Amino acid sequence: MKKLTIDENIVDKISLGAIVKIRDELLEMQRMGKKIYRLESGDPSFNVQDHIKDAMIEAIKNNKTHYTESTGLPELKKAISEKLKKKNEIFDNEPENIIVTNGGMNGLYVAFRSILNESDNVIIPDPMWTEIAEIIKLSGGNPIYVDSNNYANSVEKIKFPDLKAIFINSPHNPTGKVFSRHDFEKIINFASDHGIFIISDEAYEDIIFDGKKHFSPGSEYENTISLFSLSKTYAMSGLRIGYIHTRNNKIVERIGKMVRVTINGVNSVAQHGARAALSGPQYFIKAMRDEYQKRRDIIYDSLVNSKFLEPIKPEGAFYIWCKIKEMPAGVNDSFTMTDYILRKTGVGSIPGPVFGPSGKDHIRFAFSADTKIIEEASSILKNLE
Ligand code: PLP
Repeated sequence: MKKLTIDENIVDKISLGAIVKIRDELLEMQRMGKKIYRLESGDPSFNVQDHIKDAMIEAIKNNKTHYTESTGLPELKKAISEKLKKKNEIFDNEPENIIVTNGGMNGLYVAFRSILNESDNVIIPDPMWTEIAEIIKLSGGNPIYVDSNNYANSVEKIKFPDLKAIFINSPHNPTGKVFSRHDFEKIINFASDHGIFIISDEAYEDIIFDGKKHFSPGSEYENTISLFSLSKTYAMSGLRIGYIHTRNNKIVERIGKMVRVTINGVNSVAQHGARAALSGPQYFIKAMRDEYQKRRDIIYDSLVNSKFLEPIKPEGAFYIWCKIKEMPAGVNDSFTMTDYILRKTGVGSIPGPVFGPSGKDHIRFAFSADTKIIEEASSILKNLE
């Protein structure tokens, strides 16, 4: 029998390392009976609204459990199209240019895969939610990190061959930054001058604080691939619904093919729930946003006087990015710092380097957990010695 050999594969280029390790550790500590505060991951604490649940129950009862059109149910695409006009000011959109995906993550993968060839470069903010760089690598491309603080100004100076896209995520995971209209104008000019795509990840479009407004570059720049998710706005994270809009027909065709040969459409019941979510009442989004803002204030106020950490006040999303200003004895980097905090307080966090080179000496907490948990964890963190 010939021995099976497994050659190196593109998947070997991606890593899941640090976050998986931390999650496993938290779960293990929880199993051992220790009180653990899961501030390492961003999963909304809210429940799905009843009218969305009812739509899914109805779909099951009425046997709407068969294959759907692989790029999405027409009635869902129609609801998305209306939403894009009303909320994102993407007026000239057609249901044919919308693809429903298995959560935002699947959308990100098919979007990058549809534009990248081997060794193509994509500019991404540093720091950035880990998965973005990994998805770009999995699509054959190279992520080029650019300081997120000064993103719009820094990209103007970039001279890279084989540049295919600039990626933007506003509100931004992990810093909570909401990019200004002025930043977007510079990014649009840059993309337009270079003839490249803007990939705009708008997963947190509704989680914006202090009255700041969300901006969708797809409303102004033709070559935008806009990505949305129902995970955060409607707390539908486990139902895995996202969608893409782009005016570029070639990209629509490629994404359509990829969706067909991989997932062949998203779970029909979840799509009926998504239609109800997008076309039903929206008042609870404000209530949820207000609650996140309250949590943001609680955790920020407790960390701002911390001996060891210096938090950046997030303008949106539900993460708080902290610089380590002083290391306790025995701590020498972000990894040992997250470990120190976990052992001393039971609060989980993620070490900054996981999000890119500038994450050195930083850590990230999420405040998507229930307000009571955020209150308890914050009062413990306040007294961290
Ligand atoms: N984009 C960003 C920046 C995220 O942080 C997330 C999830 O945390 C997503 C996209 C995708 O979320 P989902 O796949 O649940 O839609």
